[in-house]
Amino acid sequence: MFENGTIDGYTVAAVDGTKFFGSYLKHCGHCLSTIIKGKDYFYHSGVVMSIVGDAPKLVLDFEMYDPKVDSANKDEGEQSAAMRMLSRVMANHKQLLDVVVYDALVCNSVWINTCLSYGIDIVVRVKKNNNKSLKQVKALANKAEPVTVWNDEKGISEVTVYEKTFIMAGVEQPMRFVKFALKYEDHKRSQIMIVSTNFDMSLKTIFRIIRARWDIESAPQESKRRQGVKNSLIACS
Ligand SMILES: [Zn+2]
Repeated sequence: MFENGTIDGYTVAAVDGTKFFGSYLKHCGHCLSTIIKGKDYFYHSGVVMSIVGDAPKLVLDFEMYDPKVDSANKDEGEQSAAMRMLSRVMANHKQLLDVVVYDALVCNSVWINTCLSYGIDIVVRVKKNNNKSLKQVKALANKAEPVTVWNDEKGISEVTVYEKTFIMAGVEQPMRFVKFALKYEDHKRSQIMIVSTNFDMSLKTIFRIIRARWDIESAPQESKRRQGVKNSLIACS
């Protein structure tokens, strides 16, 4: 089915955290809970992995948060659920995937090394406050000349691309840091930064993967939404 990959020859899957259920009234022993307007609110959340690109958007697997096992910290809890899911996907669908794309919450050596051990490359968003090696490479990229400028992207007047190679603490192989600075037709600007372990992939392909995964114009709202529920999980006994 994915003989020619889903984006420029690569079979790409995306992971996303999501909420599956929510109620003030109904709950079970595996629910997560939080307090909304003074009332207990029960819900389940987890991660979903699906194919992105030029193919049916197949859901490959999903995994629930388990409040008895996973950290109450939202990002850590989501990452450990994602690791369980990834290990199952790799066991059930050997050699299916080339690249896994995910949010900034997994921009760390644990996630990256796990993917590398399965022989898959990563594309991961970089958040504003990240670890030391990322701060350094961001500063270097900001001082550097752009590697290329595109004026042919649909809906965007100009894309300026900066790229640097760097070593992330805890990851043995070098990685790519790529920043896309975007200028829209209404003169608004935004930027998106990623790291990747794949050095063969063209910058255009990386940008196609980003556009397939994130609605780049609404990216700031997305991060606000995630921030809102961060650290608000309490395991329900
Ligand atoms: Zn429940």
